Amino acid sequence: MALPEPKPGVLKAPIYVGGTHKVPGVDRPAVLSANENPLGPSAKAMEAYRAAAEELHRYPDGGATELREALGERFGLNPERIVVGAGSDELITLLIRGYAGAGDEVLYSRHGFLMYAISALTVGATPVAAPEQDYTADIDALLAHVTERTKLVFLANPNNPTGSYLARDAVRRLREKLPEHVVLVLDAAYAEYVGRNDYDAGAELVDAFPNVVMLRTFSKIFGLAALRLGWGYFPQPIADVMHRLRSPFNVSVPAQKAGVAALADRAHMEEARAHNDLWLPKVSTALTDLGLTVLPSVGNFILVGFRDEAEADRAHAFLFARGVIGRAVKGYGLPSFLRFTIGAGWENGMLIDGLKDFRRQG
Ligand SMILES: *Cc1c(COP(=O)(O)O)cnc(C)c1O
Repeated sequence: MALPEPKPGVLKAPIYVGGTHKVPGVDRPAVLSANENPLGPSAKAMEAYRAAAEELHRYPDGGATELREALGERFGLNPERIVVGAGSDELITLLIRGYAGAGDEVLYSRHGFLMYAISALTVGATPVAAPEQDYTADIDALLAHVTERTKLVFLANPNNPTGSYLARDAVRRLREKLPEHVVLVLDAAYAEYVGRNDYDAGAELVDAFPNVVMLRTFSKIFGLAALRLGWGYFPQPIADVMHRLRSPFNVSVPAQKAGVAALADRAHMEEARAHNDLWLPKVSTALTDLGLTVLPSVGNFILVGFRDEAEADRAHAFLFARGVIGRAVKGYGLPSFLRFTIGAGWENGMLIDGLKDFRRQG
């Protein structure tokens, strides 16, 4: 008898495993595994979330009007071309469902965010990885891997897990050389952390070209990962595709309300950025002084290199046993590295002390 069979590709996709948050026997572990905001959510966002409890019997505004308008105002964008999603992960999936299928190719850079390849596989498309230079996306390598079958190119900028970024001019060159039928997705999940003059999250390009989109999230600097809230800025025809593919009430009322409140609480965001500006160099220097390789990062996390995979595994287990949760990144083709979020001061201290002891015991 023939059993139900999923569509081609579905079972080829690995299941994305999120960062761990618990260590058996440790009450307060240092959770440095998921690039979350160590300061937590904005108090104003929490208040808006709680207030939404009174109205839980009502369906959300499926168009998320208030939130899109707040986003438009805050970032100087046309709210008509903003689409919100249950995390930017949902928007990645919808873009791939909208523009790729069996036989198509989805291009990304070798150490780019894992969800691009996973989502591509679920629709039967082929993920194609272009090599990088110095753990940074390489425009020429990406362009060299474009074929007639390429439907989307994903660029996480800054990239997770490497922490590297491409300057405005490089991204513009990629878009200029790309055939117009290819959608260029600029995933700027960490944009708010970047303090470089030559960086642009991508809105300029979205306004200028019909095949560029920008994705953003409330999960990182806004500290709302639990709510699942992301957004994107699109050319109108692509926004129309997203609205057709998304489920009608894809973002909950508490998420929409908390998102609006979080946007208004500029002080909280500035505090999160200042915290990162203070600790990112401190942690990087401390670990470099221990003889470890720390890749330069413009995000809220660092990628730390060990001698080989075995040493990275040992460090991961050693830290975990002491209550420091890092992230192994083998799935990204980086088996001898571990990624650590810039945490609260005490968490960063636990990481530095942990690696100091690890180095000492060989
Ligand atoms: C965290 C992350 C996302 C996903 O964010 P959600 O909005 O929580 O789905 C997207 N892209 C990159 C590069 C990320 O690191």
